[in-house]
Amino acid sequence: MSNGPLYSVRMRAAQGGAHEEGGRHISGGERLGRAEELERLAAELVRKALTHSRGTPDFINVTIEALPADAVQRLVPLPVSTIAVTSVEEGRERAAALLREAGVSEKAVRRGLELLKCSVNLRGAAILDARTGERLDGRGLKGVRVSRMDWDRDGYAQWLRDHPHLSSPRVAEALALATKVASAPGTVAELCWSDDPEYVTGYVASRGSGYVRVTRLKHAGDLSGGRVFFAHGDVNLAEYIRYLERQPVWIG
Ligand code: AMP
Repeated sequence: MSNGPLYSVRMRAAQGGAHEEGGRHISGGERLGRAEELERLAAELVRKALTHSRGTPDFINVTIEALPADAVQRLVPLPVSTIAVTSVEEGRERAAALLREAGVSEKAVRRGLELLKCSVNLRGAAILDARTGERLDGRGLKGVRVSRMDWDRDGYAQWLRDHPHLSSPRVAEALALATKVASAPGTVAELCWSDDPEYVTGYVASRGSGYVRVTRLKHAGDLSGGRVFFAHGDVNLAEYIRYLERQPVWIG
């Protein structure tokens, strides 16, 4: 790969107009790459937008932006484990227990679960106070989108050799995101299940537990989903969000 500028490539897609005009969120994606990779990365993101099971978008925005040369951080991916459950109820109880072990209060756990159950059009993550459960970001349906992270290509090839059973791009993207989120000092834990009606596996992630997949966190066909970041109540919110949205990070 060349040593030229590093670019952030981001996509967001909606149906019924742009997000800011009330369109329904379909899909989003974040990659990093050098100049010679940009056409491929943009094409992959457009394909992702056009093949999402939430529907066909009529709005797709792809943004490509050069990043400052000096600022890239490197992170080792969180260790991955899987808890197999036989029902959504069991899955949510196991996820709740993992969140409590990470330091999230019972009240905040319940708020987080309720929020994801009710969210069918959340485009980013909701940040909740890990003690009180209060929503801190105030961004509504837009939420906070973690951006400017991607796998180092050699690092990912190595990770895949070690985890051949986890070869889907979905896991790669989610693990990169969760690793960046867990590395932020303000984060206590993360809860995610996808808003993709066909994908029912979700996860809890934290520095202590790693990335723990839970095989059923919702019913097939359910459009609900999103991400909740549980944060320390005394977090510097502006600084925390700046890190999540803007700090470039290579994983691997
Ligand atoms: P996905 O993992 O792509 O199925 O996304 C599921 C949900 O997670 C989305 O509807 C958003 O609410 C949230 N989400 C996806 N990508 C991001 C991101 N980069 N930053 C924050 N939240 C995200």
